[in-house]
Amino acid sequence: GSLPDRERVRSLLAEAHERYNDDVSGEVADYIPALAGADPDLFGLSLAGVDGGVFSSGDAQVEFSIQSISKAFVFALIDQLLGHDTVRRNIGVNNTGLPFNSVMAIELNHGSPMNAMVNAGAIAATSFAPGGDVESRWEFILDGLSRFAGRELVIDDEVYRSESASNGRNRAIAGLLHSYGAFGADPDSTVDVYTRQCSVNVTAEDLAVMGATLADGGVNPLTGEKVVDASVCRDTLAALAAAGLYERSGDWLYEIGMPGKSGVSGGLVTISPGKGALGSYAPRLDPAGNSVRGQRAAHFLSGALGLNLFASH
Ligand code: GLN
Repeated sequence: GSLPDRERVRSLLAEAHERYNDDVSGEVADYIPALAGADPDLFGLSLAGVDGGVFSSGDAQVEFSIQSISKAFVFALIDQLLGHDTVRRNIGVNNTGLPFNSVMAIELNHGSPMNAMVNAGAIAATSFAPGGDVESRWEFILDGLSRFAGRELVIDDEVYRSESASNGRNRAIAGLLHSYGAFGADPDSTVDVYTRQCSVNVTAEDLAVMGATLADGGVNPLTGEKVVDASVCRDTLAALAAAGLYERSGDWLYEIGMPGKSGVSGGLVTISPGKGALGSYAPRLDPAGNSVRGQRAAHFLSGALGLNLFASH
């Protein structure tokens, strides 16, 4: 099957925006000081089809830092390099059942990062970026994220500086993982690269295109570039299904029925394999750090567009 016709998609996106625009539930993240200043009322929705059609409503062109949504795409880049089995062994694909920044999860699992969608696994994935020095590892990641988006992405310096000054917890996670030997590079430079990747600016439209690339067997539907293999997309979507919304991933699958990935700045990407992806931006978060309006819009659109993977018809 494919997406409904263009007019139907356009009107359902507008309806989703209208339905949830006035919803003020949730709180903007403030543990990274630069995120606290976001306009909480912003709300953008975008859908990109594997045929290259992009539809948007609301604040879909507003830039914000990608944060944890980078984890999905960096995982794909690293899986492309290391392969299916090594990634499962060295990073893992299970859910921790604990918050995204849990240190306890590492200890409970004897040093396993558990999944690249939580900080421990994401920092471990970033540690395997190729290149000797920080700059070449960073270039690999920024270039890869940009190829998923189909445009040259740039870092938000204010967010990068703010997070660098407040990321003691991530440095602790990296140090702990490194002490278990579960790491590809030195912990401090790896956290620096990870902090940069989280500070890259995107829009809801970018997220839709990035997600649609995973829906399209790794081919960017705008540029036609093959970014990763189709098998890497399968691996990535499986890891997302398990932990893309952290300890709320079961609730998310139960309601939306597709792999998704959230970030604390309020972005969310939802992928419909073979069809396309939805990107959204709405900064107010639930207690697990997932955008409230993004989840509601995804729920509505999953039903209205017939995207739930568990539905037989
Ligand atoms: N950069 C953030 C962190 O490491 C990302 C967290 C998130 O988006 N959930 O804490």
